[in-house]
Amino acid sequence: MLAVKDSAQAPSIHEARWWEPESGGRVHCYLCPRHCHIGEGQAGFCFIRANHGGKLYTLGYAHPAALQIDPIEKKPLNHFYPGTRVFSLGTAGCNLGCSFCQNWDISKSRMDQAAAAYVPPEDVVRLAIRNGCPSIAFTYNEPTIWAEYLIDICLAAHESGLKTVMVSNGYITHEAFHDVYRHIDAANIDLKAFTEDFYGRITLSHLQPVLETIERLKHETKVWFEITNLLIPGLNDAPSETHALVEWVLNHLGPDVPLHFTAFHPDFKMRDRSRTLPETLHAARKMALAAGLHYVYEGNIRDGAGDTVCPSCRMLLIRRSWFAIEANHLHNGCCPRCGLEIPGRWPGIGQKEPARLSPHEEAAVAERYGDLNL
Ligand code: SF4
Repeated sequence: MLAVKDSAQAPSIHEARWWEPESGGRVHCYLCPRHCHIGEGQAGFCFIRANHGGKLYTLGYAHPAALQIDPIEKKPLNHFYPGTRVFSLGTAGCNLGCSFCQNWDISKSRMDQAAAAYVPPEDVVRLAIRNGCPSIAFTYNEPTIWAEYLIDICLAAHESGLKTVMVSNGYITHEAFHDVYRHIDAANIDLKAFTEDFYGRITLSHLQPVLETIERLKHETKVWFEITNLLIPGLNDAPSETHALVEWVLNHLGPDVPLHFTAFHPDFKMRDRSRTLPETLHAARKMALAAGLHYVYEGNIRDGAGDTVCPSCRMLLIRRSWFAIEANHLHNGCCPRCGLEIPGRWPGIGQKEPARLSPHEEAAVAERYGDLNL
């Protein structure tokens, strides 16, 4: 647990970006496609952007509700510096209303309900370096809604040679998209289903803006990204829906974007539905590979398909067990047998040595955060 000495003195309120004033003291937030029109003293749908005196403020700035070190494979990212640790953080709130949310204790909290420590951007970077993490992930709740904080972390991270990772539902407006993603090195976008009906009823949002974000990532940025599709029995796991999703990925993004099919477990308001059967994931993966996708993975099940295989000569390139790398045969990002370049970001290629903490910084971080046990 994070122990911080002066959190009471640290402000969590910070002037927001991506808003405009409206008549009667209201404000319009256009950070995400929900486009909240927020009255004086009220917060938007996500709980952490509020109108005070006719100005929009972000409430969770520098107050993460969750801090942890994860394997990068847990995000999941299988083609981004495999086997490395990623310093991961999230705040309170969310801009979607998924009834199956698996992090609902923080995503459905307001800032004043979440146990949040004060960790300014430069300290996030120092803690990542101190814990041997070459990258920082914005995750657990939806990072778009605390974009002001994450951008400041990215600026400090890049100065120190660290990479940045966004784990997102993709619900962001085109007005904010480049402001955020020009600071991001890799992303996993949760494509929760492939019907507007599911997005409307189960997540209280819309499908089309998510598809637009994914297309923008592909065609307008250099961000490495992978896609996750959580299959929920009876809601979004029909073979026809999976087929439509796979065809969309192929036609709009090409065969090289990794796709992760992951298993649902009962949580939050959806405890009456059974876990996803492994057979459902196997069938979805088989369909995607047969359609022509090159890298298709399974997650959240024991013995799920997590290995990376060369799509040209079928050589096993990276063998995984859960989130652990058991063997990595890639040579300079290529298949050692046929030489095919495997898309992704690989150790040693374009990766700078992260900065080290000076003795003074080390002492300051130790004094402030103690023996942070992550
Ligand atoms: S970021 Fe929050 S306040 Fe802004 S439009 Fe989205 S849900 Fe509303």
